Amino acid sequence: MHSSSHWRVAVIGSGPSAFYTAEAIFKAKGDAQDLEVRVDMFDRLPVPFGLVRGGVAPDHAKIKSVTRVYDKIAANPGFRFFGNVMLGRDVQVDDLTQHYDQIVYAFGCESDNKLGAPGEDLAGVHSATEFVGWYNGHPDHRHRTFDLQNAKRVALVGNGNVAMDVARVLLQSPDRLAPTDITDYALEALRKSSVTEVVLLGRRGPAQAAFSPKEIEEIAELDSVDIVLEPDEAELDELSVRWLEESGSRSQQRNVKFLTGCAEHGEGTAPNKLRCRFLVSPTEILGEGSVRAVKVEHMKLQADDSGTPRPKSKGTSEEVECDLLFKAIGYRGEPVPGVPFDERKGIVPNAEGRVLATPGGDVVAGHYVAGWCKRGPTGLIGTNSADAKATVEAMKTDRADGKTLSPAADDIAPVLAERSVDAVSWQDWQRLDAWEQAEGKKRDKVRHKLSAVDEMMRVIRELR
Ligand code: NAP
Repeated sequence: MHSSSHWRVAVIGSGPSAFYTAEAIFKAKGDAQDLEVRVDMFDRLPVPFGLVRGGVAPDHAKIKSVTRVYDKIAANPGFRFFGNVMLGRDVQVDDLTQHYDQIVYAFGCESDNKLGAPGEDLAGVHSATEFVGWYNGHPDHRHRTFDLQNAKRVALVGNGNVAMDVARVLLQSPDRLAPTDITDYALEALRKSSVTEVVLLGRRGPAQAAFSPKEIEEIAELDSVDIVLEPDEAELDELSVRWLEESGSRSQQRNVKFLTGCAEHGEGTAPNKLRCRFLVSPTEILGEGSVRAVKVEHMKLQADDSGTPRPKSKGTSEEVECDLLFKAIGYRGEPVPGVPFDERKGIVPNAEGRVLATPGGDVVAGHYVAGWCKRGPTGLIGTNSADAKATVEAMKTDRADGKTLSPAADDIAPVLAERSVDAVSWQDWQRLDAWEQAEGKKRDKVRHKLSAVDEMMRVIRELR
């Protein structure tokens, strides 16, 4: 049934890269009147937006407002949403190849990197992914528990923006979070929290910190928090001074300037402290049953072949006492049934967006990838726009060359109905969205977010 007057695409996932893919496809249609373009977007959850709903911190409303752009994309007559439909459970890749000219995987990176240090399984050791998913009401993480009530000091491994989110949520006054869309259970737990100190553990120096200047500066602006650095750890080594001068970005330069200022500011008087440690790398998590401390090795920096400063052990270590430990050392992709996976990189193997059967292997015609599962978990939300556009360019070229799938049927909806899959449409979501906002208003917050799939489905069915 393949026809050049049709361009039917399945997009798997409904986060930023999925929406930017849909947008680029609709734009590519241009004013071609005789071309019917359809984008069917699938998500395993009944609700869209991926990490914008389940990852972006509740107090970052401005970042979350990007969903207004996605709403406009979804308003295109060629767009359909199939929420509550999981690839590998409700539909298989083979079903998609029967119904679409092209398939784009945009399912992100759902897991996290492991430290690989002894003691990682102790109680009180958590990944930031779990904590972020928990306070944001992600169905996978809503049941998790964090003993914030009995914890005074938290060790936080990693120096990226996720670590900044975790530190900010732990240290700011819960009153600031109350009017946001934070889940009720998380707000209650944060109100009972005894955490007054977060010790940030970076394995490299201030010049190599991965957080954005805006994110660390935002923490310093909180009345309840001081950012504290030991002056000797704020000081750059010779390699970093040279590296920063020659190849450091403006963000890195701004970070160094800001952190130097913090070191001069000293202990401060605010009740809560974010203690930034640098050149320390966890080697063991200590405790009996639950975490008591983390053993860190002292590091120095050494240039690798490309001149980038890398951490190397100095051979000395210390113990940093903590009641909880969070790892914020990066996300990692998970394999999806029927989709090739590069175990080493944790992404779908691809050549500029075209899926490869194996890393470095042959192109699988008709299958594409966008966003974090294409390039790994890097960049800000907007980075995914250019990334998706590049993938759609490859799709356009292949389509023009006749290198598409050969679907036998044109609508997958009857297949889902036959399997009794209760797919959530965009209209269903819009009703739930309005309901969550109305329920939020009653509670003096922007949104009362549902976090359980069965609850979401119950409300959606009631609203239909
Ligand atoms: P990230 O930016 O890659 O930072 C990961 C951090 O973990 C780095 O400091 C890294 O140090 C460290 N690390 C990795 N492995 C380690 C190990 N074994 N031991 C100790 N430290 C280790 O990742 P992320 O924070 O998860 O963020 C993911 C992406 O989302 C980033 O692009 C981020 O900017 C974005 N994001 C943005 C926002 C925002 O704009 N508000 C919020 C959240 C996330 P090295 O540099 O030494 O490897």
